[in-house]
Amino acid sequence: MIPSTCHRCKGTIEPGTTDLIVRARAIQDHYDIIAIREIPAFVCSQCGEAYFSAETSRTIDIVMDRVQQGTPGECGRPLAACEITLPD
Ligand SMILES: [Zn+2]
Repeated sequence: MIPSTCHRCKGTIEPGTTDLIVRARAIQDHYDIIAIREIPAFVCSQCGEAYFSAETSRTIDIVMDRVQQGTPGECGRPLAACEITLPD
């Protein structure tokens, strides 16, 4: 259910998109970073918190199940990334 105001900051919710970046267990017990881009969402105009419709949440669950099984399917492609460790 999409709230009328943001649960975090009471800001206004507007239609938009967001990216979801999660750490997922993938092939051969390796943990990989999975980025799902441009997800239709309802986004807080103040803090950026994103809310998903039930249908979009189901689609995300299906995609993440495929990733967990090591079969992201035709939608998966390599991600350009930069891994940074904070200095001591
Ligand atoms: Zn907010």
